[in-house]
Amino acid sequence: MPTYTPPLRDMQFVMHEVLNVVDELKQIPKHADMDADTINAVLEEGGKFASEVIFPLNISGDSEGCTLDGKTHAVTTPKGFKEAYRTYIDGGWAALGCDPEFGGQGLPLVVNGMFYEMLNSANQAWTMYPGLTHGAYHALHTYGTDEQKQTYLHKMTSGEWTGTMCLTEPHCGTDLGLMRTKAEPQADGTYKITGNKIFISAGEHDMADNIIHLVLARLPDAPPGIKGVSLFVVPKFNVNKDGSLGSRNGIYCGGLEHKMGIKSNATAQIVMEDAVGTMIGQPNKGMQGMFVMMNSARLGVGNQSLGLTEVAFQNALAYAKDRIQMRSLTGPKAKDKPADPIIVHPDVRKMLLTAKAYAEGGRMLQAYCGMLLEKEHGHPDEKVRKDSGELLAMLTPIAKAFLTDNGHISTNACMQVFGGHGFIKEWGMEQYVRDNRINMIYEGTNTIQSLDLLGRKILGNNGATLKKFGKLVGKLVEEEGTNEKMSEFITPVAILGDQMTKFTTEIGFKGFQNPDEVGAAAVDYLRVAGHLVFGYFFARMAQVALREIAAGNTDPFYVAKLQTARFYFAKLFPETATLMRTARSGSKVLMDTDAVFA
Ligand SMILES: Cc1cc2nc3c(=O)[nH]c(=O)nc-3n(C[C@H](O)[C@H](O)[C@H](O)COP(=O)(O)OP(=O)(O)OC[C@H]3O[C@@H](n4cnc5c(N)ncnc54)[C@H](O)[C@@H]3O)c2cc1C
Repeated sequence: MPTYTPPLRDMQFVMHEVLNVVDELKQIPKHADMDADTINAVLEEGGKFASEVIFPLNISGDSEGCTLDGKTHAVTTPKGFKEAYRTYIDGGWAALGCDPEFGGQGLPLVVNGMFYEMLNSANQAWTMYPGLTHGAYHALHTYGTDEQKQTYLHKMTSGEWTGTMCLTEPHCGTDLGLMRTKAEPQADGTYKITGNKIFISAGEHDMADNIIHLVLARLPDAPPGIKGVSLFVVPKFNVNKDGSLGSRNGIYCGGLEHKMGIKSNATAQIVMEDAVGTMIGQPNKGMQGMFVMMNSARLGVGNQSLGLTEVAFQNALAYAKDRIQMRSLTGPKAKDKPADPIIVHPDVRKMLLTAKAYAEGGRMLQAYCGMLLEKEHGHPDEKVRKDSGELLAMLTPIAKAFLTDNGHISTNACMQVFGGHGFIKEWGMEQYVRDNRINMIYEGTNTIQSLDLLGRKILGNNGATLKKFGKLVGKLVEEEGTNEKMSEFITPVAILGDQMTKFTTEIGFKGFQNPDEVGAAAVDYLRVAGHLVFGYFFARMAQVALREIAAGNTDPFYVAKLQTARFYFAKLFPETATLMRTARSGSKVLMDTDAVFA
């Protein structure tokens, strides 16, 4: 059976020693009184909730799955899920990062993000029930009318009601412009919504009193394509004027998907028959509101894979220390035993270190994005708000795709550490591989993330945001350029930073002549960009570790940090050379292939 220990030490390192989040938060009026002790205490308690309440339900939930009653359309979640959710609400966990105006605790998003990393490690499928609520909450908070906010946000903040995002239809996934769900305006200002959605996560369940669906649909006179899509809030139960639950709305679960992973999260086929909804934002501008939710969810999906990478690493490490097979190539290490623990073998270490490095880099990126989000919305200086928003927009597809691809690599590597036992259900490792697989697909596939990064976020503004990130790298080089001990960490990042400018211009130029060149290069490009970002963060982590060691700090944590950084730069980062080469090889070998596909 797997175990899980919340990585609180590393979280504290990231927040307090590398990113100095408390100083940064003090510049944001609503967090001016925030201190490290409060943050640490919340995460310590959050870690207990994740490991003691949610984690024990992971394997049982996967085995049991959700069940649908075809007559009542009611979905029952696995044993213990509902009770654990009650504990979550009673503990105030739902309200952690929410606005105090609606009953929230107003804690920084970086804290909520780390709490969610632990929940994802403990049980990704359970965590999606409350997790999606945060995205729906943000969309309503940003674009909802006062009445909509008063009607929904208090209960979503407390966790009594959960949220969903309803975009996908049977014939329309990536291309939302193909959407058919219809919204008919009514005399009272509401809309009657009719259509079918599929694959709706947490779309129906028994954990909360009401489910607040955010639904994309088309008005009768809507222009074709994505420019004719509007956003609606459609509750499972209509809400009376006094806030109490009213009649059952015409939105229900018509079926549940049978899936490879996240089996205990109800992936619902949602049927709407004259369901009553109200519009969020302006007619035909539904994607504005939905993008608030999608961006929040994209960071959330990256966080899911970070959680799985961490828990897979912890269990593979314990196994590698315990399992004895063969002798070390350099002679016996455990002489009292008939064989050595497999952790003596170089390739086993490589698999473990891969997961360790991807977890640590991912945690840095998630925390950094959490701080950008805070600054974008709460910093008093307009320029800081603007810069933070732009940088976050560029880093979001990286956080989604790079972290989930790394999660795929890491959970597979950790399963491999177990040999054949990794393939056997009782060890829990194959579930991490299965659960992670969807993270590369939903919320916009990783290919779509890469097109968003290269096409919109980089070439779309002539590399301006990339240059801003380049300035951060430049600042680090300036600070540490003469420090010999830092050279092994800084030099590769500085070189890649320089190469990136030329690489981007080259693809941009080719793409200008033939757009397929961008499509052919994008996935490789995103991975290179991901390594530039991770390289920068590993250099910053190494900088802190070296400083502490030089000051006489003997905590082995810092030595471990340096060793992980060294591994990262030696064994993972160099794939950028191959990726740039394959990206440069262009689109012709992909598109001039009609004979292959005839
Ligand atoms: C378990 C699960 C949970 C989900 N949860 C939700 C949810 O809560 N709400 C919701 O609305 N949806 C949800 N989805 C849907 C999910 O977001 C979509 O499956 C996903 O966006 C891809 O859409 P699709 O499946 O229709 O694939 P398609 O859009 O048909 O894509 C098929 C393939 O073509 C590629 N492709 C498509 N267009 C391009 C292009 N322009 N360039 C290059 N490649 C392209 C894709 O990358 C993919 O590899 C969920 C799906 C699953 C399986």
